[in-house]
Amino acid sequence: MADRYQLVIGGQLADAASGETFDSIDPSTGKAFATVGKGGAEDARRAAEAARKAFDQGPWPKMKGRERAAALLKVADLVKQNAGALAELEAKDAGHTIRMAKGADIGMVVSTFRVFAEIAAKENDEEPLARNPGSMNYVRYEGVCVGITPWNFPIQMAAWKIAPAIAAGNTVVIKPATYTPLTTLEIGRLCLEAGIPEGVVNVVAGSGAAVGEELVGSPLVDKVAFTGSTEVGRRIMELASSNIKKCTLELGGKSASVVLDDVDLDYAVDGAMWGVFFHNGQVCSAGTRLLVQRPIVDEFLAELTKRTEGIRVGPALDPASDEGPIESKTQLETVERYVGIGRDEGADVLTGGERAVVEGHEGGFYYRPTILGNVKSSMRVAQEEIFGPVLVVIPFEDEADAVAMANDSIYGLAGGVWSSDNGRAVKVAEQIRTGTVWINDYHMINPRYPFGGYKQSGIGREHGEMGFNEYRQVKHIHVDLGGPSRARHPWWDLTVPKREQPSAPGAETPGPKAPG
Ligand code: NAD
Repeated sequence: MADRYQLVIGGQLADAASGETFDSIDPSTGKAFATVGKGGAEDARRAAEAARKAFDQGPWPKMKGRERAAALLKVADLVKQNAGALAELEAKDAGHTIRMAKGADIGMVVSTFRVFAEIAAKENDEEPLARNPGSMNYVRYEGVCVGITPWNFPIQMAAWKIAPAIAAGNTVVIKPATYTPLTTLEIGRLCLEAGIPEGVVNVVAGSGAAVGEELVGSPLVDKVAFTGSTEVGRRIMELASSNIKKCTLELGGKSASVVLDDVDLDYAVDGAMWGVFFHNGQVCSAGTRLLVQRPIVDEFLAELTKRTEGIRVGPALDPASDEGPIESKTQLETVERYVGIGRDEGADVLTGGERAVVEGHEGGFYYRPTILGNVKSSMRVAQEEIFGPVLVVIPFEDEADAVAMANDSIYGLAGGVWSSDNGRAVKVAEQIRTGTVWINDYHMINPRYPFGGYKQSGIGREHGEMGFNEYRQVKHIHVDLGGPSRARHPWWDLTVPKREQPSAPGAETPGPKAPG
């Protein structure tokens, strides 16, 4: 593992223009372990210019989809070959347990590049349309993109932004989250190693205020794909409006896991824990609101609490750790503050509710998985995104009550329904206003299927054909094969004296209107 990381701009590894660097902190120890180039507005401008040049003058957008696909497959292979090193880096930089980094992150990155290679290979860059007599018509797809990513899944989010953007023939500048840029910089480097031409993939580490704002406001950029909080998403929309950029937004969530009374308890308790405590609840789609049908709530909670107490919290690189640290000291303090708010609102802490002490790693940012009972849907802990290992549990009476409570949120990202009766579960799922609902499972995100939010959870979809199309600009090209304009628009024939001009064929009033 290197101890110094550089930006990726215009096909080169580069220091920040200012020469400044910042330390990357390992949340398992609270100590610095590497330095990173601290990009600023000037680096963002250089990267946007490189991406623009690569799009306007470079080979990438002109290549066939299947040629781009071959390059994406090469990136996927390089990620696989470097899986161990990338997983360790994610564990150090972002606190992912090594089990999760190896078992989930790397696989998702590889399959994201592979799926978009497959889509690029089979999609036409030009779509022929019905041929009218005397003309041929087709749609051409084209588009410079910016991808801005959050700190919770750095390497996965880098793949989610880079793969579809470049598969569709665009060039891209990625701004990873301020304190977790290392694996994204490595993916940028591997894209160069895979032979992707200079300027097609650029990565600028740095703050949202300096790098992010410069990129989103840049007139050189056509599209922004943002993943992060709803609050910053609002700011992205404002900035993107400067030159009416296309935006897709993947924002926050406060998703509900609905447990119906006919459920297999063992299965659903296990699933509810996976839904909320996967990666310490630092997951946009986490099932942080557990709605349980009243007849089974006591038994369910007793089992859930017992099993939650068995979760081992420890250093990210220790294979015995079920949960690693919280990603930063700031986020640890946010989690603590919210548990305090819950207590003040009248919630009972059923387990957790405090920092975890990990022997030998006292400087790390650890928190015990926490369950809050006696919660009402109107409380702040049930309404606001905490983004940590905190579950609120609320009983409900019947399906209508569960649906109303699940929908009692400004967010609409995801959710789960647990039942032994699929028909009953589907009826509930259909009424929950979120982009995804999993039945008897959770977190099943697949790069082939669309993912995104309703309401304040976002605009647009990532993944699959729908995600791919978010990165394409549609242009209709009409090629006329029928001779001079006057032959088809007699009313426009400038060679005929005005008084003798015929009206348009088949029309009593003048022919086609000039475009609006
Ligand atoms: P954040 O909104 O604070 O930051 C996200 C990114 O935006 C970072 O790279 C940050 O540096 C950048 N940024 C901040 N201010 C900016 C500005 N003014 N202009 C341009 N860029 C700016 O989010 P976070 O704390 O990094 O991540 C957690 C949030 O992300 C949670 O709300 C979570 O739900 C959300 N998230 C959503 C999804 C999804 O798919 N819907 C996935 C993961 C995370």
